[in-house]
Amino acid sequence: MEKKELLYEGKAKKVFTTEDPDVLIVSYKDDATAFDGQKKGTIVGKGAINNRMTNHIFKLFGAEGVPTHLIEELNDRETAVKKVEIVPLEVIIRNFSAGSFAKKMGMEEGIQLKCPTLEFSYKNDDLHDPFINSYYALALDLATQEEIDTISKYAFKVNEVMRKYFASLGIELIDFKIEFGRYHGKIILADEVSPDTCRLWDKETHEKLDKDRFRRDLGNVEDAYEEVFRRLGIR
Ligand code: ADP
Ligand code: UDP
Repeated sequence: MEKKELLYEGKAKKVFTTEDPDVLIVSYKDDATAFDGQKKGTIVGKGAINNRMTNHIFKLFGAEGVPTHLIEELNDRETAVKKVEIVPLEVIIRNFSAGSFAKKMGMEEGIQLKCPTLEFSYKNDDLHDPFINSYYALALDLATQEEIDTISKYAFKVNEVMRKYFASLGIELIDFKIEFGRYHGKIILADEVSPDTCRLWDKETHEKLDKDRFRRDLGNVEDAYEEVFRRLGIR
């Protein structure tokens, strides 16, 4: 599989077309951004870790009935994926309070919620990804009711699978963001799951093993990504 043209360069990945109109190649970068792109930096080795971690976990989802865009890992940083039309919703699931939720609700971080919760942001950089509900998504014609139902069902399933899996690695899944796309009329999971998009805390020490180390200048950023990668056992 060969890269043809650069279709899109995002903050964390480049996306290339291929000979096959249904197939893209994503190439994961070491670049990191936070706070709506205002903070920029590099996390050495991140691209390869995020690529390999995403593919490893997407395989678990496939086995649990959540279809994904994964076709084939090509090398450390690059993966062939099904080209989807991204549904412009950032789907966020939370198990514990953290980040913007903790701030909005006036809670400390790390409090277990009575049940997992789901929220949507409208994926729109110009508007800074505003928080919306499913009625907005319908009214703005971002997705149909049927799609929203499927996305929500898959998102909770993804949470169940990841929570259990990370727990077996001594990691608490605090929250995460995922994206879905349309592929020949069907909703499938796209984009990535990595320490860039999940909050992952050591179960015992509550040490942060994710991008919050970069966002909040906590130090040992590379070490945290490496530690998650090491626990996955896919080195
Ligand atoms: P951003 O666009 O937020 O800066 P990235 O750097 O991760 O993010 O860029 C990757 C882009 O590719 C994202 O906009 C994402 O929605 C999109 N994408 C992810 N998977 C697919 C796919 N299978 N088909 C088409 N687009 C995808
Ligand atoms: N997240 C993400 N991309 C975004 C916004 C959030 O991957 O553009 C992830 C983030 O890493 C965390 C979860 O979604 O795991 C919830 O983030 P939150 O809403 O608390 O926002 P933040 O505190 O990161 O601004």
